[in-house]
Amino acid sequence: MPLDLILRQARLADGGQALCDIGVAGGRIAAIAEGIAAEAPEIALDGRLVLPGFVETHIHLDKSCILDRVRNEKGTLDEAIAAVAAAKRGFTEADVYARAQRTLEQAIVNGTTRMRTHVEVDPRIGLKGFEAVRALARDYDWAIDLQICAFPQEGLTNDPGTEDLLIEACERGAHLIGGCPYTDTDPMTHIARIFALARRFDLDIDFHLDFDLDPSWMHLDEVCRQTSAHRWGGRVAVGHVTKLSAVDRSRLAEIGRRLADTGVAVTVLPATDLFLMGRGDEHHVPRGVAPAHRLIDHGVTCSLATNNVLNPFTPFGDCSLVRMANLYANVAQIGSPRELAACLAMITTLPARLINARDYGVAVGHPADLIVLDSRDPAMAVAELAQPLFGLKRGRRSFTREPAVIHRPG
Ligand SMILES: [Zn+2]
Repeated sequence: MPLDLILRQARLADGGQALCDIGVAGGRIAAIAEGIAAEAPEIALDGRLVLPGFVETHIHLDKSCILDRVRNEKGTLDEAIAAVAAAKRGFTEADVYARAQRTLEQAIVNGTTRMRTHVEVDPRIGLKGFEAVRALARDYDWAIDLQICAFPQEGLTNDPGTEDLLIEACERGAHLIGGCPYTDTDPMTHIARIFALARRFDLDIDFHLDFDLDPSWMHLDEVCRQTSAHRWGGRVAVGHVTKLSAVDRSRLAEIGRRLADTGVAVTVLPATDLFLMGRGDEHHVPRGVAPAHRLIDHGVTCSLATNNVLNPFTPFGDCSLVRMANLYANVAQIGSPRELAACLAMITTLPARLINARDYGVAVGHPADLIVLDSRDPAMAVAELAQPLFGLKRGRRSFTREPAVIHRPG
């Protein structure tokens, strides 16, 4: 069998102690076996973990890297929304492209091979952000598969002109549609309009949802109801749902079973949720991070994602999903190998399911989208923030990170 490349002595995340060789041909995985006998360039991995790349389900490329022009003095969600709403009036297509490019390249060198980015569409920005990110997706197709989710950050029913722009984004090829009912004066109609547009254009949906710590009401109920009514199960995701950090175990179990049965997936955004939640408290500040590791035990598809990078919503970020998995594990007080490995699943296989990526995984016939982590154990990779050493996208090397070197005296 003619091969272009052989990765020797690879460890797969679900492969236990067994090692295997991975043969790549024509941009695809052509063979996975012990001791592949073929003539091709080889890379010895010495038992290191090979993953099909990290999957980012929720990031905002269009409003990343704007701390040089706008900040969040009080640190509240309201201030972040208002500050970015004002700043984006000054965004140009070239400006969005340049900032988004910087953020996307960070994600690539941190091992992300697939990404869903939310892009704001409303009368302040028009379709400038959408067009800039669409051009970026085309230009970086060699390194990453980018899904664009057009969404109304400032609300829909309260923001005249927004729905027409959303429709135009869908007509121009948005991959899916998002919603943000918590900023709308009529959240129920907002949710209903997003489902109507999703049906009209046959698109998946991704909501920003229930982004506070009051568990006495949830928009999640209406999203589940509409998902069932439209038979859209498996095509709906919700991000944040920080309210779920404020319910007891039995209610969480009830909600988890409902989400699993309805086919609504959950993305937790630890960096932003930790930064913005509990701002009313001066001591004993709640963590405000939804317990994704408990939801997956009820069968919910959960992912951990980056959300915002260097903007008023989150003035941090390096686009490392390993860092996000480690942050989540730390905040959620996770220490067992089983649950640490589940955190790795929440930046790989589970988000791949969330974005309905059908050809993801280290399997013969799939695209050779592969990263090598400097680790020999899935749980320890999360515990130690294992860095990716290099990555392939469709068989071609897309990035390399040289490991640090100690220079001893003498
Ligand atoms: Zn978001």
